[in-house]
Amino acid sequence: MREKWYKLIGELAQAEKIKCPNCGKKAIDYLYIGDEETEIGYLQIWCNECKKGIYISRVKIPKNVRVVSFEESKKMKLPSYELL
Ligand SMILES: [Zn+2]
Repeated sequence: MREKWYKLIGELAQAEKIKCPNCGKKAIDYLYIGDEETEIGYLQIWCNECKKGIYISRVKIPKNVRVVSFEESKKMKLPSYELL
C-alpha cells in the first residue's frame, strides 16, 4: 500500500487530480515542511476523505510546491490522519 502513495510524490504539483490509493476519491492534499535554503524537509501526504496518509522524512523539496518553514509549522494546525 505504501508504494502506491510513494508514486504520488512526483504528481503533487497537480494534487487536485490525484485519486487516493486507499479510497479512490480525489481528496489528496500534501504539505512540505522544511528549509527553502537547503531544500530538505519532511513531506506529509494525506487524503481528506478517508484520513489516511504517509509521512516521509528528509526529502528534497521540489520547486512549485507548497512549503512551510519549521517555524511556521509550529504555529499552524497540522493535518491529523492515520499513518499507513
Ligand atoms: Zn482516501
